[in-house]
Amino acid sequence: MGPPSATLRKNGPDEVARAIKPLECVIFDCDGVIWRGQKKIEGAREAIAGLEAEGKRVLYLTNNSAKSREQCASKLRNFGIEANPSQVVCSSSSAARYLDSVRFDKAKKVLVIGQEGILIELAEAGYECVTCEDLCGSSDPECKIEEYERMELCIASLYLSSRESNAIFVATNLDVGDRVGSDGRLIPGAGPCLAAIQTASGREATNVGKGGEWLLPHLVETLNLDAQRTCIVGDRLDTDIALGKQSGMLTILPLTGVTSEEDLAGCAEGERPDLVVESVAALVRGGGPASTEG
Ligand SMILES: [Mg+2]
Repeated sequence: MGPPSATLRKNGPDEVARAIKPLECVIFDCDGVIWRGQKKIEGAREAIAGLEAEGKRVLYLTNNSAKSREQCASKLRNFGIEANPSQVVCSSSSAARYLDSVRFDKAKKVLVIGQEGILIELAEAGYECVTCEDLCGSSDPECKIEEYERMELCIASLYLSSRESNAIFVATNLDVGDRVGSDGRLIPGAGPCLAAIQTASGREATNVGKGGEWLLPHLVETLNLDAQRTCIVGDRLDTDIALGKQSGMLTILPLTGVTSEEDLAGCAEGERPDLVVESVAALVRGGGPASTEG
């Protein structure tokens, strides 16, 4: 057990400003940082506008595959944040870039278990997608599965474990869950569903989201990032902060998402972010409570 959470030291705006002054690029996670569900996080718009006014490049990197880059940029714009799709990397678009990188045969089809964002990104990249719903009409009548989500897990597992299968198996993220609702309940994310498919099929997916091995070299190359002059702002230790540490970026964790002060107090030294802030509002001077400094 770590020290009691009351002793956790949060970094104030002046301290944060000093740390990010020499940087040229700030990468933001979205859920738990800029918004939580459908609600924007107070001060996010001002903080981002402030960083851009200082000439910093702002990028958005999300493990959310339910949206395409355009849909994600549109959600940012709805919150008053000027963003365009070229600033956004979603795990839906990363799935498409991964298939490009392994030269997946476009004559073949991609079975998608997920939401609209993946279907949009894969279609834009020229891949033909099918969903379990499409397959159901022609499914074996001996295999009747009542619950739709369980059916998806079954279909994916059957494909992957069949003896002839050499299907490429891609995960957009392994996130355990997301906090939803005003009381911040944690609901299962893609990780638990994927774990079921992996266990049943005996196959392991390539994770193209944050937390996986593939993403960082891809980002550095395609976005022309200098990790030493970049920071990542995210609410998850195992994805956002891990990615930053993997590359030597400055890591900043706001306490508005899945990681609590108790989690931070209990985590290993090497997994801790460089800076902890109450919220992204602390990324701009005058945007956070000065009393947290020191
Ligand atoms: Mg997040």
